[in-house]
Amino acid sequence: MAWGNDAADARLHGTQIAESVIDLIGNTPLVVLKRITELHNLPCVLVMKMETSNPGGSSKDRPALEMILAGERDGLLKPGGTIVEPTSGNTGVGLAIVAAQRGYKCVFVMTDKVAPEKVSLLRAYGAEVVVCPVAVPPEDPTSYYKVAERLTIERNAFRPNQYANPNNPLAHELTTGPELWAQTGGRITHFVAGAGTCGTITGTARYLKEQNPNVRIVAADPDASVFSGGSGRPYLVEGVGEDFYPAAWAPELYDEVVPVSDEESFLVARQVSREEGILIGGSGGLAVAAAIRVAKTAKPDDIVVVLNPDSGRGYLSRVFDDKWMANFGFLRESDECISDVLATRGDTPSLLYVNPATSVRETIDLMRANGISQIPVCKNTPPFAAAEVSGAVDELDLMEAVYRDPAVMKTPVEHVMGPKLPTIGAGQAVKLAVEMLDRAPALLVLSGGRPLSVLTRTDLLTYFEAVNRG
Ligand code: PMP
Repeated sequence: MAWGNDAADARLHGTQIAESVIDLIGNTPLVVLKRITELHNLPCVLVMKMETSNPGGSSKDRPALEMILAGERDGLLKPGGTIVEPTSGNTGVGLAIVAAQRGYKCVFVMTDKVAPEKVSLLRAYGAEVVVCPVAVPPEDPTSYYKVAERLTIERNAFRPNQYANPNNPLAHELTTGPELWAQTGGRITHFVAGAGTCGTITGTARYLKEQNPNVRIVAADPDASVFSGGSGRPYLVEGVGEDFYPAAWAPELYDEVVPVSDEESFLVARQVSREEGILIGGSGGLAVAAAIRVAKTAKPDDIVVVLNPDSGRGYLSRVFDDKWMANFGFLRESDECISDVLATRGDTPSLLYVNPATSVRETIDLMRANGISQIPVCKNTPPFAAAEVSGAVDELDLMEAVYRDPAVMKTPVEHVMGPKLPTIGAGQAVKLAVEMLDRAPALLVLSGGRPLSVLTRTDLLTYFEAVNRG
């Protein structure tokens, strides 16, 4: 691969020494997921493309390099220039590596959803990192898209814009696709990858479909993302799924888009890490979960290749932290847990919530009709389930607000709402709920990362009565 190798060093002639770290991008290995194949009784060979072998540890080194080379060719990036990019981390690492070698400065814009170690990582490469809130719409001036736009102008910078840049999918068309074709001796039958900017899935699909139109292309997607019909937010897996369609989105090339939940993505990531000794992140878990589903219907001679975009090392405080997993309701932590309390209550089947725009009067009516004294405020609208929590109200707040100003009855509830309820996972211990309810009037129970129910002191008393009687 002659990528970026513009001045060959004669002193290295006849050695196997790379000219620079840039020459180590690409040519990542393939390995059979032997234990996963056995555990899931797969009829075919399931193979992983190990993008962790790139110098930056992810698939994004490839588009980072291609976009910078194109920026130089097109005169958009001048010697000593600055690169500004909104990125969830991996593209940033790729850009920082290439920038270090080629003498550019980097400024990265990220959301506060991203794991904190990813911010530290980019700073370690000498980049400047600006963190923006995830809970604002893209058109908000503090959104990470808008902040990136402003900084690009202020710093007179080159903005690779991985979501719109054709060199992102092109990198995979020129490298990932040909590598897979050559490494499998043209026998690849299925290619599965998570879709974020869609650079990986689209670029690789273009090459593979050209070699053999029967290669099945499977895009793995968080089930709340727009690619698989969701509202676009919120979900917890990082780096994949979107709330809009990026330029590289090419559904005509995808045979299937497989939706995968946060829960399945994380549990599969943990299983692959433990069973195979291959530490992968949430989006790798998502891709493997989709690949397992696809492989179950494959033929014995099929070769299903799943691309693992990055390492689990970037997610130790989340996917691999039992406390974090339990708080979102992904793990059962105790023999006597919150879901047992909910089971004895057995009433409200789905979470009651109001929208921020619901009037105070309607909110009071809903609470009275259901005999509840607090209710979460969530941004989602039907048919999507309550997921994006913005706050909560309780009868005490409402009583005080209406007493101060009766006109408040007609105003949206968001004007009087209080902070979000503290959260507890459905699999966490009853003992923890007792401790937390000492300080808060109610808790929001999460299951599979999503709000499930509101838990109050009365619920616990009812449960204690029931178990003592039993
Ligand atoms: N997983 C992770 C962790 C990523 O950072 C990305 C890139 N956003 C992807 C998967 C998806 O790759 P792509 O943007 O090429 O669709």
